[in-house]
Amino acid sequence: MPEDGAPEDPIAAFRARARAFLEAHARPRRAGDDDFARFRFLGDPSPEGDAAHVRACKEWQRTLFDAGWAGIAWPEQYGGRGGTPAEARAFAQEQARFDVETGAFAVGIGMVGPTLIVHGTEAQKRRYLPGLLRGEEVWCQLFSEPGAGSDLAGLRTRAVRDGDEWVVNGQKVWSSGAHHSELGILLARTDPDAPKHQGITYFVLDMASPGIEVRPLRQINGVAHFNEVFLTDVRVPHENVVGEVNGGWAVAQTTLGAERALIGGGGAVTFRDLTRLARDQGRDGDPLLRQRLADAFIRFEILKYLGRRAQAARRDGRSAGAEASVLKLAMSQHVAMNGDLALALEGARGMLLHGDAPYGGFWQQSFMNQWGVRIGGGTEQVQRNVIGERVLGLPPEPRPDKTAPFRELVEG
Ligand SMILES: Cc1cc2nc3c(=O)[nH]c(=O)nc-3n(C[C@H](O)[C@H](O)[C@H](O)COP(=O)(O)OP(=O)(O)OC[C@H]3O[C@@H](n4cnc5c(N)ncnc54)[C@H](O)[C@@H]3O)c2cc1C
Repeated sequence: MPEDGAPEDPIAAFRARARAFLEAHARPRRAGDDDFARFRFLGDPSPEGDAAHVRACKEWQRTLFDAGWAGIAWPEQYGGRGGTPAEARAFAQEQARFDVETGAFAVGIGMVGPTLIVHGTEAQKRRYLPGLLRGEEVWCQLFSEPGAGSDLAGLRTRAVRDGDEWVVNGQKVWSSGAHHSELGILLARTDPDAPKHQGITYFVLDMASPGIEVRPLRQINGVAHFNEVFLTDVRVPHENVVGEVNGGWAVAQTTLGAERALIGGGGAVTFRDLTRLARDQGRDGDPLLRQRLADAFIRFEILKYLGRRAQAARRDGRSAGAEASVLKLAMSQHVAMNGDLALALEGARGMLLHGDAPYGGFWQQSFMNQWGVRIGGGTEQVQRNVIGERVLGLPPEPRPDKTAPFRELVEG
């Protein structure tokens, strides 16, 4: 109990223990050109940089696991800590102050784990969850296709049952990290005669299976973060089906909800980073830039509370549905405005790139990275549709394709 006799806040005590662990095992982040972790994540376009990033993520994850700090809110029988969502969030906030790399596990720990905990068989949980928490296996998400992004239920990759296996043919795109992933989560159409949302199955895919070809795509910032993935007669064991055959849409909703919360939950940039930039560039006395900094502070605060609202929904077992869309949209606008502000603070030097630019081009990379945040996990327009329908009660978009058999829909 604290000296004043007030009962001890359990989250504050948890935070203090987490901080002590982090201080003993990691270097605190410093907002500046010596902050290599964030620069590597955002900006090193070389294969060596990518490999070093994955290695650093695996090592840090193993450190967390060995010390009992992995999977804070995951069940203990699968290697987790058995804590609460509030503890998980507190740990993530504390960890964000340290120079550690975690990005390679965004899909696996951020999205696959929560999905398998809800929908996986006991055998799937035992096979995949501990390995994830030990940092042994990196996962990718094989959902989007050239003709199925916002309209994900329009996907055309086919899986046909053949005894104890499924045979998969099709193409995925924008598959983040597929080039360095051991495993993937895959959506494929298994009943083209059913309406489009009802004929989809969710699979775990071993990325070393014969018939998988991964081709990296290079982005505006020079980084090959995502890929095209071609699947030709890929055989997947039936035991890798997650949830029901043809019931994959419901499973995917858990993954997509976790993804929206993940993207809305935090960016690489903090308010302290922006004020440090303003001071370093000698722009902290400029009255117009000061107003924009004040606006940025307000946005950071709003996002904090939107994040808590989504967290409370998860804690209470409610779907974060429309709240996650509000959070994702707010985050999208936030990264766009922070990108503009950072380059305005750099003035003419904002036009430089990489080593010529201040901080090795960190802020230019951050600016260009905004479109990834704004499009990935559902575009701003699509989030607005969700908010319009579910929050404002506006009439839904006409969806004549919702009930017809998928086979009868016109392609494109
Ligand atoms: C950085 C990044 C990482 C990604 N990682 C992955 C990944 O790992 N795995 C994966 O499966 N996918 C991934 N994606 C894909 C992502 O989910 C899709 O890009 C996204 O869903 C949008 O789909 P699309 O690109 O096909 O655009 P489209 O759906 O073709 O949309 C094109 C434009 O039309 C607008 N639009 C579409 N439908 C509507 C509508 N009904 N109302 C109003 N406007 C509409 C959109 O807002 C957009 O502006 C990633 C994307 C990015 C940017």
